[in-house]
Amino acid sequence: MSRSVLVTGGNRGIGLAIARAFADAGDKVAITYRSGEPPAGFLAVKCDITDPEQVEQAYKEIEAEHGPVEILVANAGVTKDQLLMRMSEEDFTSVIDTNLTGTFRVVKRANRGMLRAKKGRVVLISSVVGLLGSPGQANYAASKAALVGFARSLARELGSRNITFNVVAPGFVDTDMTKALTDEQRAGILAGVPLGRYAQPEEIAATVRFLASDDASYITGAVIPVDGGLGMGH
Ligand code: NDP
Repeated sequence: MSRSVLVTGGNRGIGLAIARAFADAGDKVAITYRSGEPPAGFLAVKCDITDPEQVEQAYKEIEAEHGPVEILVANAGVTKDQLLMRMSEEDFTSVIDTNLTGTFRVVKRANRGMLRAKKGRVVLISSVVGLLGSPGQANYAASKAALVGFARSLARELGSRNITFNVVAPGFVDTDMTKALTDEQRAGILAGVPLGRYAQPEEIAATVRFLASDDASYITGAVIPVDGGLGMGH
């Protein structure tokens, strides 16, 4: 059956791989984008998740075309790396506003339809860094760790309504986000990855699709690492 799926930040990187995985399986997939030409093959809605009005407008467009969102993948995220002593108030709050509060905005709006339907799947894209920590990424790590408490609270709050909330915690994935790293930083990271390589975005997408499938009907409040072993033990 074709389900209504929304992937935030589905225009590139991990989000695009997730959007493609659902579309390939026959689902109706909406993606958000902020600027430029969005990729073809999806219902692309312009939406900056830091703006509640744009979030509301995006949902209205999606609901008109695809019906209420049944599967939400909150993937949009940013980094603004800086050592603590040099990290400005804006460096901190803008990352929280996108990664955490932006996720709150899209999840809250999706739940309206999910409550009515008495079912729903929500997958949040966190990061191994949220549990492991990372120098120069206190803002990002805090935002990603917070997603775990957020998802687990909602798993408890809304489990009786047949809505599941799970977190995927990728390790280092080959996308624009990690292209910004220096060769030295890359080598340092890979030294800690038992599988000795970066993930491909499709490897994250496969886990997300599983969590939205019937096979994952009894999984909620879980944090699933897809990190080549980097975060083992956390
Ligand atoms: P990219 O930088 O390649 O893409 C980020 C995506 O988020 C883009 O689609 C971007 O949209 C969107 N986005 C950013 N800010 C906003 C906003 N305010 N409103 C709407 N959309 C926004 O990142 P990745 O694909 O690598 O990362 C995707 C997710 O996975 C992120 O949450 C990231 O933190 C997480 N992650 C990534 C890892 C990695 O190694 N790459 C590892 C662990 C987690 P636009 O094109 O408009 O900028």
